[in-house]
Amino acid sequence: MADLVAIEGLRLPTTAIIDGSPRMTAESFDDVGPRDGRLLARIALCGPREVDQAVASARTAFEDGRWRDRTAKDKKRTLHALADLMNRHAEELALLECLDTGKPISDARGVDVPLAIETAHYYAEALDKLYGEVGPHHPGRLSWAVHEPLGVIGAIVPWNFPLHMAMWKVAPALAMGNSVMLKPAEQSPLTAIRLGELALEAGLPDGVLNVVPGLGEGAGQALARHRDVDMIAFTGSGSVGRLLMRYSGESNLKRVSLELGGKSPQIVFADCPDLEAAAQAAAWGVFFNQGEVCTAASRLLVQRDIRETFVARVVEIARGIVAGDPLDPDTRFGAMVSEGQMEAVLGHIGRAAGEGGELLLGGERVRRESGGFYIEPTIFDHVAHDATLAREEIFGPVLGVVTFDQPEEAFRIANDTVYGLAAGVWTADLELAHRAARVLRAGLVWINGWDSCDITMPFGGFRQSGFGRDRSLHALEKYADLKAVTITLRGTR
Ligand code: NDP
Repeated sequence: MADLVAIEGLRLPTTAIIDGSPRMTAESFDDVGPRDGRLLARIALCGPREVDQAVASARTAFEDGRWRDRTAKDKKRTLHALADLMNRHAEELALLECLDTGKPISDARGVDVPLAIETAHYYAEALDKLYGEVGPHHPGRLSWAVHEPLGVIGAIVPWNFPLHMAMWKVAPALAMGNSVMLKPAEQSPLTAIRLGELALEAGLPDGVLNVVPGLGEGAGQALARHRDVDMIAFTGSGSVGRLLMRYSGESNLKRVSLELGGKSPQIVFADCPDLEAAAQAAAWGVFFNQGEVCTAASRLLVQRDIRETFVARVVEIARGIVAGDPLDPDTRFGAMVSEGQMEAVLGHIGRAAGEGGELLLGGERVRRESGGFYIEPTIFDHVAHDATLAREEIFGPVLGVVTFDQPEEAFRIANDTVYGLAAGVWTADLELAHRAARVLRAGLVWINGWDSCDITMPFGGFRQSGFGRDRSLHALEKYADLKAVTITLRGTR
């Protein structure tokens, strides 16, 4: 164990950010640190009243054009300035993320914060390269189509990658000229609040980015039912996704985009060109971030000819993934985000054992003496198609192994889910790889790699994994309306 990263002197931001100012509320909620179960801070508890005030400021900012009407060059400069400030505060942001979520400091430093910064730079760079269209030639008319910002965007984000997911929504929404209301998850409000502070420092005008920490039933619902919010961009559970669509229908028919997770399969064929890489991907595909990943490769489908040696190697790798203190720079596998999430995952593990799955590894809470919420990497073999483990998103470090014989059988099992977020295939056969890419029903298909794409490629799901895309230039479209303008030219026939 290396020396723990020091946190003395670290300021924990606790306020809402409304109309350009930090705001403490009369009531607060407890932010508990999962590494030791202790209270980190008391955070401003926004409810309908604060959401109303923040939406009013976002609306005013939008209507008076203080951000929307700035030149593209100016907006670009401001978003780059925000990214630069985040870079300057990268260590602080990484520490806040690590304390709030229980993820290893090495991941917060090496993955979450750099990717959030990259996202801000990407959309800063994209925003002055967006052109409209001119319609086909018509002698008596001139027509063009142009994207316009929607107005006030509500971004409701989860706790697994709090800053990164926030930037996936905030950056393209701001790039399009909208005002944004950011509602972080109650488990992880710290980096969202710090982001709001840094945005003001970067020169984003007051009211353009408001941060309203609070509970889902409170601030979240108030935002999603608000008649002056034009869109909700959401990442989280399917059950809340359904509520958001209902709130939209019962209020102002605001747009909704949903990123809802999945039950993603990784298929390893016997001709896999690099079995060691596939085994590493099988393990880290589900154990990275303690399994709290919407694209977690929670189903491993292995062809029978290689299953004994391959599964043995995955178990061996997983045995070396040991839960440790998130503040230890050597830790690669940290704590679950909350006691509730830990209990939910342990409940799934108990049910899987009762449904006939054979436990190959793990299954227990560990590091109990720390007071934190740790579960060891867990692997079940012989998981039946209809077992809960094969069907429900667990959102924890739990892998289910299934054996198959023929490719068509593997594709059928892979597609036998209500979800469709990601799927992986390992094969040296080009023909088979192309067939897999065509038949797998998922928004992301990775061949001979896992999670092997980046900000330049769209991210989102098929079926009950949601709709609407984050990342890439496609993300910009969901924060815009398309307006068609036609001028009838006098004096022409
Ligand atoms: P939720 O879907 O409940 O939370 C996601 C966000 O939605 C949070 O900001 C939450 O606020 C907010 N929210 C909750 N209820 C409402 C509501 N009625 N109206 C508006 N906003 C609301 O996820 P959980 O934290 O409960 O996690 C449960 C499961 O969800 C996980 O086990 C996992 O399966 C899935 N999940 C999927 C994620 C993904 O990346 N796709 C990410 C996180 C979870 P608050 O937290 O403050 O209540």
